[in-house]
Amino acid sequence: MRSLHALTSACRFTPALSVPHTARLSSSYESSQISAPSPSQSLSSDSPSPSSSQPSFVVIGHTESQSALQVPKFRAIASSVRNVTLSSRTPLDSDLPSPVTARATDRSRSPSPFRSSSAVSRSSQHQQSQSRRAVSLFDDAASSSSADLSLSESVSSLRPIRTNIFASPSYKTESVEAGSYYYEESHDYRGKGTSVLKTMAKSALGSILIRLQKFTLGNPSSIFSFRPTRLYTRTAQYAVVTFLGLLLLVTAINRRSTPKISAPSYAALNDAVFQAHSQKAFIPLVPKSDANVPLEVLRARRKPKAALISLVRNSELEGIEQSMRHLESRFNYKYNYPWIFFNDVPFDDTFKARTQNLTNAECIYATVPESHWSLPKWIDESRFISSLEYLGAIGVGKGWMISYRHMCRWNSGFFYKHPILDDYDWYWRVEPDVHFFCDIDYDPFAFMEENNLKYGFNINILDDARSFPSMWRQTQEFMSEYPELIHPEADFSWIIDHKNDGEYNNCQFFSNFEIGSLDFFRSKTYNTYFDYIDRKGGFYYERFGDAPLHTLAVVLFLSKRETHFFRDIGYQHDINKQCPANLLDKCSCEPTDLDENFYKLVPMESPQKKPDDSCIRLWLGGEWLERDDTGKYVKSGFEF
Ligand code: GDP
Ligand code: MN
Repeated sequence: MRSLHALTSACRFTPALSVPHTARLSSSYESSQISAPSPSQSLSSDSPSPSSSQPSFVVIGHTESQSALQVPKFRAIASSVRNVTLSSRTPLDSDLPSPVTARATDRSRSPSPFRSSSAVSRSSQHQQSQSRRAVSLFDDAASSSSADLSLSESVSSLRPIRTNIFASPSYKTESVEAGSYYYEESHDYRGKGTSVLKTMAKSALGSILIRLQKFTLGNPSSIFSFRPTRLYTRTAQYAVVTFLGLLLLVTAINRRSTPKISAPSYAALNDAVFQAHSQKAFIPLVPKSDANVPLEVLRARRKPKAALISLVRNSELEGIEQSMRHLESRFNYKYNYPWIFFNDVPFDDTFKARTQNLTNAECIYATVPESHWSLPKWIDESRFISSLEYLGAIGVGKGWMISYRHMCRWNSGFFYKHPILDDYDWYWRVEPDVHFFCDIDYDPFAFMEENNLKYGFNINILDDARSFPSMWRQTQEFMSEYPELIHPEADFSWIIDHKNDGEYNNCQFFSNFEIGSLDFFRSKTYNTYFDYIDRKGGFYYERFGDAPLHTLAVVLFLSKRETHFFRDIGYQHDINKQCPANLLDKCSCEPTDLDENFYKLVPMESPQKKPDDSCIRLWLGGEWLERDDTGKYVKSGFEF
């Protein structure tokens, strides 16, 4: 099933920076800054005007000194534009035509608006800059060349008169940019406001402010007839570059926070894997019974290095006594696996005496190191407190308990790190107050070892997904960063909600019962995953449980063949219970339906979607999902 890896990498999502989009942006921008040629001009080099209608290009109002310097340069620019000649005259205000008219004419006349625009634009800016009658606040050249032209003390005293200026039919230079702003000469332009205005005019914000000023003080409609000058060109260029820069930055950030593999791709990918698995009939491994093997033979057998482990408080003594009585009488009195009790504080003597009193096996009492049971330094405490308040308020089970967060994290990433377990290969997790209903006539540890199993469960449930909303997204990110760690036969099919955009369906092994391989949890693979999730803080910012985390890890890093459903181990934890129907002579419980525990733990107020089939059926797959014409399942149970 190497194909999984191939598909995984093939499904990577690489956000693309759209160059064509950039190109579109700039071309539309360029087209917006085209100067308006005269109706008698054709600025297109493709379609030169006949010499009879050769246009004349008018420079408005040169000062003596500036014309000497600027005209040759300007001439050179203008002469590069075919059929454009240059003459110099000083028009009156009334000579100037309306820019709106000019633009409208321009559009209808000019076959290629891009041609010669820069030359015309430059000349028009130059014209304006030289004009004692017209000053462009938005033109660099204008502001720099009009050093002797001080602007008014206050922007509010400036009043646009563009409409009047452009109204004249004798205005010959129709290429003057309509975006330039003209102010009445009668104002005293000398004053301290000059530099402020210049600075304002040079900045994008300033430009906007001045435009707003114009909008409120002048003719509001003028804002719509606005066309850009060189400063606007530059401002827009800055804006485009800044936008692209920001886009790059956001893309770079997103590359880390967005899964490169999309969830639906996983769904598709797993359809393939799932089909391969489910085509084969699911053959449950059947343990060989030791019921007739004499006790001394059993005890003399080489045993796997295994322990019954329990994290428990001193105050839960009675609860753990109840669990021990059940498991000892149904199983451990024959095999004598040691009990190892863990606690975040030392066990008291009563606890030790009474637990040891219930078994012939060795009892070991271990204290959890503080570093395994405290807030990691990368956790933001106030965010953690908010999470406690929030999850408590919305009714997520034990969402307000600090110790519960530590407990979930310890069961996820620390229990197997305790040095007391160094000599062990297998663990069976036991909680206080649980029930074992059936005789277990074989050694589940030996069964796991012999069959190369790594993880065993006996209830598969939905839990309140509001406690781990980010876990799946983070897991997807992990998968896209470490695709090589995913097992080639990993089967996601049963945890993917195909009807819900390939989201995690929140199915999980009910981890208060587990029989597992310590080596699996000690593996570099598992710990890379645990550390990855732990670093994101979900044990404290949300209420990540060890159940969904173990489940996702088992799905990611093991094949289904390495996972086992202990249907024969009748069990109860609070309201969740499972009792096999075929072992009535060995069990003291009412047989439960295969789908019994499906969504008991999901509170009404949780908005999560429920899969169409129960989690255990999804895990079993194949014929366990088949229904008859009436919608009833073809297979009602899973007994062996
Ligand atoms: P639930 O099954 O998810 O409702 O969680 P529990 O309250 O049953 O806790 C899970 C396991 O962790 C049980 O074995 C508890 O005894 C144990 N546990 C939870 N909190 C603490 C704690 O603060 N200290 C100790 N020593 N054990 C704890
Ligand atoms: Mn519990």
